Amino acid sequence: MKVIKGIAVSPGVEIGQAFVLGEVEQHVPRRVIDLHTRDQEITRLETAVQDAIGDLDAMQVRTREELGGEASKIFEFHIGLLKDPTLLEPIHRQILDNGDNAEFALAEQFRTLVEQFKAMGTAVFRQKANDIIDLERRVLGKLMGETASRMEELQGPAIVISHELTPSEAAALDPNKIVAFATDAGGLTSHTSIVARALGIPAVVGCKNISYQVNDGEQLVIDGDTGQVVINPDDAAILEFQRQRELMSSYRMTLREGADLEAMTLDGTRIQILGNIEFPREVDAVLDNGGDGVGLYRTEYLYLTSPSEPTEDDHYRAYSDAIKRLDGKPLTIRTVDLGADKYTQERAEEPERNPFLGCRSIRYCLQNLPMFKTQLRAILRASSEGPVKVMFPLVSTIPELRQTRMILNDVMEELEEEGIDFDRELSIGIMIEVPSAALMARVFSEEVSFFSIGTNDLIQYTLAVDRGNERVANLYTGASPAVLTLIKSVLRAGRRSGIDTPICGEIAGEAAFTMLLLGLGLRTLSMVPTQIPEIKKVIRSVDMDTCERLARKVGSFDSESQVRTCLRDELRKINSDSPGGRATS
Ligand code: PEP
Ligand code: MG
Repeated sequence: MKVIKGIAVSPGVEIGQAFVLGEVEQHVPRRVIDLHTRDQEITRLETAVQDAIGDLDAMQVRTREELGGEASKIFEFHIGLLKDPTLLEPIHRQILDNGDNAEFALAEQFRTLVEQFKAMGTAVFRQKANDIIDLERRVLGKLMGETASRMEELQGPAIVISHELTPSEAAALDPNKIVAFATDAGGLTSHTSIVARALGIPAVVGCKNISYQVNDGEQLVIDGDTGQVVINPDDAAILEFQRQRELMSSYRMTLREGADLEAMTLDGTRIQILGNIEFPREVDAVLDNGGDGVGLYRTEYLYLTSPSEPTEDDHYRAYSDAIKRLDGKPLTIRTVDLGADKYTQERAEEPERNPFLGCRSIRYCLQNLPMFKTQLRAILRASSEGPVKVMFPLVSTIPELRQTRMILNDVMEELEEEGIDFDRELSIGIMIEVPSAALMARVFSEEVSFFSIGTNDLIQYTLAVDRGNERVANLYTGASPAVLTLIKSVLRAGRRSGIDTPICGEIAGEAAFTMLLLGLGLRTLSMVPTQIPEIKKVIRSVDMDTCERLARKVGSFDSESQVRTCLRDELRKINSDSPGGRATS
């Protein structure tokens, strides 16, 4: 038995068999192949090699036509290597004699060869080493492309182990088969973690090198409340985890029973509790958990889960579906926040050196106007069917906001001319998630009808800490006095202009922050639907005087550890029956 500690990002305890996803460039998982299926493994390898040769043949023909015979010679060399029995024979032997899977055997043999070429020292041999790395990736790509079908064959329950999962890969996991996941990389507010919480799948990220330590099929326990992953747990550990799971599920059941009660403090202050969603169907979870509506609809997931660019009707249908499910409750639609960690393969452009500071969110939309206008048309059309607000992400300057509003006005005029109905009084807001917007909140507040504070990004940009990088995860915290100072000044600007200023970043759903946020003046919080019952319970257990006193006390602290300790202590006083809890960001 071995225990690995990571970052707990999505609660719950699950036991299952490891399903290791490899990444061609990162780590090739090792699996043991049964004696009687080793021949099939050789066939699998040979098919992959033949497929790769087929691709190379086609590329050679094309290159010869377009660039001439000289340029196409490189493919001759590659094809020759792949047909060379002295290269493939040791791989076959490794599969037959050791029982290694084809990917692992191939990677080992190719890497030995690379080392040999590199050791020869001359530029020509170094180039040959690069050719072999290229070939390795090509054949591994063929072999690992079978992941999807392996996943389809899974009998479940399985726990995915991977170096990293993209948000769209996480969104595509089938919760009927995949009961949890753990990754080497990631942080509490990375989008993959947010998706795990939305799917209700326990997850632990930032496990540094778990994908190297777990083999396919090994038994695992994942504890998404404490951040532990146990490999090959002994009987005592399994019993303990089962006990923990029962405790947590009965605590959550008790919370769910109170979900429909009003979110009102002991002294009668009503707090609006909204849900964050990625897909329209999640509206049901918002309502089941006692939410008053949707405060953040991350519409980019329409792109992330679709093989081609969504049409205006695809957008419209999704919004209309959400509106119907909400049945009169409000829906805040955020325009697409693509870029940074949220790209689809089809949209991936030249890699940016610093994508989180690059062409993402509203910047991406302003550079892709036809796509942006398509979405705006759909939002406007849907706005005639229920209470809809539109919100722009990552706005960082006033001219950017004005340009965005001009485009929205153009689209409104187009619809007018076409005689298409929409809400002419549609509320227009921006997310405050960049320090420049927080600092200029006063000016912004005169040009929009609401703000929504996106602390996930605001924390990363204020503290210069990547929200998805496990190596600096200890530096990423909403308890930072600098972040809290910015939040306070945004709230002040919102109050002065009389505009709503909710928070929709992950701290809105962290019970340890609830009293502080109320004390700072927040009256609307938007969070992952499953977090709603716990936050409502905290709200119903406190009075505003205590919250405001806490906010003043926290305001006098100059370190995040003081803030964090104080918030945890206060929460413990009112929430003593909670059996555990996720880390406080
Ligand atoms: C945020 O940044 O706080 C936010 C809610 O947006 P996202 O997590 O989608 O970046
Ligand atoms: Mg954001």
